[in-house]
Amino acid sequence: MTSSTTELTTTTSAATLYEDLAEISSALYKKALTDLPPDVRGAVSAAQNRESGLARRRLDVMVNAIGTSDRTGIIVCQDTGICVFFVRIGTEFAVNGARLIAALRDGIARATVRYSLRSSIVHPLTRENDQSNTGRGVPVVHVDFVDGADNLDILLLPKGSGSENMSFLKMLTPADGQAGIKKFVLDSVVAAGPKPCPPTVVGIGLGGTADECAALAKRATLRPIGEPHPEPEIAELEAGLLEAINQLGVGPQGLGGVTTSFAVHAEYAYTHISMNPVAVNIQCWRGERARATIHADGRVEYGY
Ligand code: SF4
Repeated sequence: MTSSTTELTTTTSAATLYEDLAEISSALYKKALTDLPPDVRGAVSAAQNRESGLARRRLDVMVNAIGTSDRTGIIVCQDTGICVFFVRIGTEFAVNGARLIAALRDGIARATVRYSLRSSIVHPLTRENDQSNTGRGVPVVHVDFVDGADNLDILLLPKGSGSENMSFLKMLTPADGQAGIKKFVLDSVVAAGPKPCPPTVVGIGLGGTADECAALAKRATLRPIGEPHPEPEIAELEAGLLEAINQLGVGPQGLGGVTTSFAVHAEYAYTHISMNPVAVNIQCWRGERARATIHADGRVEYGY
């Protein structure tokens, strides 16, 4: 596997931390759009071997797009997405949160100019586009703290609109139970049809509040394909839904076949006794994500 991100920042120091963070953010954006994670590559290849006819031909096109990106650095798909960061700050890692978020935003704008990326971000009413792939509230940045850790972990998801538009939330009642959850997920995948560019990863959020449930569904799509949830009850729900989804016959790009989804991933939070929220967030076949871990000694490690 090759990477086109030759400008990756590989070390940092306290003196240059925020400038380096902006460069890391820029590198992550390019990496996510051009260097698909190994689990996604493996899932596309496995589906290619399973399918035939039109479905197989669509998967051949996907494999070719990955290869072209590896060779040339051209992004795998034309959609530069809407950038969402998931940041985990170790409590032993000294960082100013406001400057960190500003640096991440700056990096997205730098990458947009540096790599001539399409700016996909607009004002929701005026549709004004300042050609930076940033704007009020964008990039979205989720922050978690890790007690005792001495590193900073930054995961970037530049989410494509085709799949993000296929997002669903329903405030079920407790009486709807697990059957209601399963029905809602299957109905959502049927409603999405070919629009999220299948084969997909179907992320499911369970519990919490309406907003937390939707966020959990997106987080669920980030788990590498092939890693079931560690809790057996959730893993069983994931496996059962994946089997049911792949019997729907939607197939790669909606052209029919046995691979509508590569995986179903669920994450949950406890909820109110009179609530049963469920959310669906779908990731397209491209499965773009890139990660940088900044260690206490200044090393910067890139991954997915
Ligand atoms: S949904 Fe994914 S594969 Fe489809 S156009 Fe958008 S980014 Fe590309």
